Amino acid sequence: MSIAEQSSESPEPIVIAHGSRRGFFPRLDRFLARYHRPSTVKMTLDHPRVTFSFDDIPDNAATNGAGILEAHGKRGTFYVAGELCGRRFRHDVFASGAAVAELAARGHEIGCHTYSHADVQLLNPAGYDAEIAASRDFRGKLCALPEIETHAYPYGSVGLVQKTVASRRFSACRGVRPGLNHGVIDLGQLRAVPLYDSDYSDEQIVTFIDEAVARSGWLIFYTHDVADDASYQGTSTRLMNFAVEKAIEAGCEIAPVATTLDIIRRKSDAARP
Ligand SMILES: [Zn+2]
Repeated sequence: MSIAEQSSESPEPIVIAHGSRRGFFPRLDRFLARYHRPSTVKMTLDHPRVTFSFDDIPDNAATNGAGILEAHGKRGTFYVAGELCGRRFRHDVFASGAAVAELAARGHEIGCHTYSHADVQLLNPAGYDAEIAASRDFRGKLCALPEIETHAYPYGSVGLVQKTVASRRFSACRGVRPGLNHGVIDLGQLRAVPLYDSDYSDEQIVTFIDEAVARSGWLIFYTHDVADDASYQGTSTRLMNFAVEKAIEAGCEIAPVATTLDIIRRKSDAARP
C-alpha cells in the first residue's frame, strides 16, 4: 500500500515518547540554544501577520482546523511526522497520507516534524539528518516539495548542536516559546503561542493579536487536535473560529509559515541599502 493510500479507518497504534529530556544539562543546553542564533532576519513588515500551525497532525486538525481556515479563505501550516500518519495514539488518530496530500493540494503548507516524532535533542547530527531525509522522502512521495521548507521541533525541544543543524537544513524552524516574532527574528527557533483552550483566555488571545498589530509583528499559533471537545493540547472549534476571526478583524494577514517567511525575506532584501 502506498503512503497516499493509507486509510485511518483501522489505524494501527503507535507509541510516542513522552516529552523532552529532563535533568540539569539538557535544560542548560536548551537554555543556551535560545541565545544561539545562527540564522536571523530583520523584519520590516507593514502589516501584522498571523500563522496557524498544527503539529503531528490529528485527523481533526486536517478536517476541522483546515476547514475553519478555508472557510475564511486562509491556509495554515501542518507539521507532519510521517511515521504517525494513519496511526493512533491514545485519543488521537493521525491524518492519513492521503489526507496530508489533500491538504497540500488545497494550498496548505506541509512542514517537517521529523519522521518519527523524535526528540531532536537526543540526536547527533547524522541521526538528525537521517530523520530529515526520511521526512523529505515521505513528503516528496505525497506532494511536490516547495521551494521553502520549514520545520517544527517535536516537544519544542532543541539543543545547541541540533539548532545549528536545523538552521542549515531549513529556512525556518518553529519552537514553542510563547511570544511575538518582531524586529530581528530567530529563524532557528521562531516563537509560537499555544492555541489551547486550557492555556489562554479569549482576552489573552486578543492581547497577543493586539501586540502583533502594535508592533507589525508575526504571531504564530500552534495546536494539535481541533474539535468541539478538544484535548488539553488542542483547540476547540469555537476558539479556532474566534482566533481566526479576531486576527482578520484586527487587519492581520493570515498565511502559512513559508509564505510569511518569503514575504519577510523579500521586504528585508528590498530594505537593504
Ligand atoms: Zn509533535
